[in-house]
Amino acid sequence: MIMKTKNIREHLEKERQNLLEKLASISGKVVSEKRDSNSYSKQGEIAVAYFELERKYLDIKHLNDQIIEIEHALEKVHNGTYGFCDKCGSSIPHERLEVLPQTTLCISCKTQQSKWSLLR
Ligand SMILES: [Zn+2]
Repeated sequence: MIMKTKNIREHLEKERQNLLEKLASISGKVVSEKRDSNSYSKQGEIAVAYFELERKYLDIKHLNDQIIEIEHALEKVHNGTYGFCDKCGSSIPHERLEVLPQTTLCISCKTQQSKWSLLR
């Protein structure tokens, strides 16, 4: 392992903090807009409001997924298994970890997983 564990952990923790802040700000907006949506009178406005809400929920879900991924990576740093693929156990290339520090799968396992999620 060329990269220093301490740096990885700091990087991941910073990233998680950023995501949590984004999540908090989006969630806050959704809650306040939901309260306001009672005052909408026209159908069109309601539709737009719901579209916006739905988009924010997707953002929230996306952020949540990223946080879960980062927490999993942090757990792996803690366990000393960071840099190794979750599925096949082979070491994940350094270049891949530099671009995607939170990744816990090698490219071939990740590709397989994406195919699976497309099938489902
Ligand atoms: Zn793998």
